[in-house]
Amino acid sequence: MSTTVMKYEEALARFEPVLGIETHIELGTRSKMFCGCPTAFGAEPNTQVCPVCLGLPGSLPVTNKAAIEGIIKIGLALNCDIVEWCRFARKNYFYPDMPKNYQISQYDEPLCVDGHLDVEVDGTTFRIEIERVHMEEDTGKSLHVGGATGRIHGADHSLVDYNRAGIPLVEIVTKPITATGEKAPLVAKAYATELRELVRSLGVSEVRMEHGSMRCDVNVSLMPRGASEWGTRTETKNVNSLRSVERAVRSEIERQAAVLDAGGKIVQETRHFHEDSGTTTSGRSKEEAQDYRYFPEPDLVPMAPSREWVEELRASLPELPAARRRRVQGEWGLSDLELRDVVNAGALDLIEETVRAGTDPGAARKWWMNELSRRATEQNVELADLAITPQQVARIQAMVDAKELNDKLARKVFEGVLAGEGTPDEVVAARGLKVVSDDGALAAIIDQVIADNADVADKVRGGKVAAAGALVGAVMKASRGQADAGRARELILEKLGVS
Ligand SMILES: [Zn+2]
Repeated sequence: MSTTVMKYEEALARFEPVLGIETHIELGTRSKMFCGCPTAFGAEPNTQVCPVCLGLPGSLPVTNKAAIEGIIKIGLALNCDIVEWCRFARKNYFYPDMPKNYQISQYDEPLCVDGHLDVEVDGTTFRIEIERVHMEEDTGKSLHVGGATGRIHGADHSLVDYNRAGIPLVEIVTKPITATGEKAPLVAKAYATELRELVRSLGVSEVRMEHGSMRCDVNVSLMPRGASEWGTRTETKNVNSLRSVERAVRSEIERQAAVLDAGGKIVQETRHFHEDSGTTTSGRSKEEAQDYRYFPEPDLVPMAPSREWVEELRASLPELPAARRRRVQGEWGLSDLELRDVVNAGALDLIEETVRAGTDPGAARKWWMNELSRRATEQNVELADLAITPQQVARIQAMVDAKELNDKLARKVFEGVLAGEGTPDEVVAARGLKVVSDDGALAAIIDQVIADNADVADKVRGGKVAAAGALVGAVMKASRGQADAGRARELILEKLGVS
């Protein structure tokens, strides 16, 4: 099935996109939202369940205080008002991965309202207004077996895992995001990125999109330029990487523009994003909200966080990412562009920890942004997932500072550590990587190099000091990169009587 699309530039010349992003974040509490079951990721299916989260008759939920603390921190960090009183609601629907046949959520009484988050794209700040942040519980997971794509279509049978059912889930809903123009996909990505950083800084969730602990639903609609009424929106569900958020917005703009251009109508529906093609396909048409037959959850008391508690939580907030970036930029002396590169590479924490372990900021940034970024790209992993710690990077740089390693040898140490050969010191010992600066050992190599390159040596003796570079190169080669190049040069000039 092929989809007609309009070229992005043309689509943007004719239409103005309006976005909305709903983000689900699983909180990293030790127990579930309404029962004592553990929440660890990756356990054997259906081993972290109990009568409450399985919805067995007669079981009663109890609200997890740590989860409420977590959502209030998120709300405060997003500049929201924390309401004085609100309730949980039942959202009724049937789905195999939801054992109770309803989800405890919040409907018209969310806990946090009216916030905002500023994001920056290419030097322009966009204020994303937050409509609400509410508390709910996650569903279980269906696993469709036998199909080619892991989707239910074409599968032989399906399995359900209820370990995730009942894990505290925070939903963050933006107000419509307008006036982003051609930058819409980048603004969407920047928002998801900033939100992830913000929540991570609070320590309330791992916010790992690849584990599903942060998932974005992206709403996109188009209106003709100059129009005042918004178009019909589609909702692309469960987009699970930052890059996919950007691509999903872009592909929906291109698709919707083509539909509208051909005189068609956009259907209000949910859509699936496909990582491989970067496009979306139609899911189910959107249910109206009243289909869920929301009503106040009768088994739970209302939430009424005291103002004292809210202020205590506000006072406990850590330094938030935007403030931290400003501080670090000043301390490390970075330009806006350099800072942006560091942030986009996911290197801020890593560099900061390396600096904390004693490395000069410039050196720490150099290793993470060059050598290690390159290796992360080669291995197709995030920088933070490389098998090396900031402390190890600091140790390698300390050896460079002590002139025990040069840059070339240091790169070999990085290679060894990343290959699992041990700590930097172990790799240096096992591979014999120390710089040879001992004059005795160097002298033997230099004598051999001078003998092998008599013509070059004569030129140097004759006053062409620049030719000594070739001899230093030969010494480096003969020592397999381990000679101290500076010391080797001094010794060569000395021996040839031109120092
Ligand atoms: Zn349970």
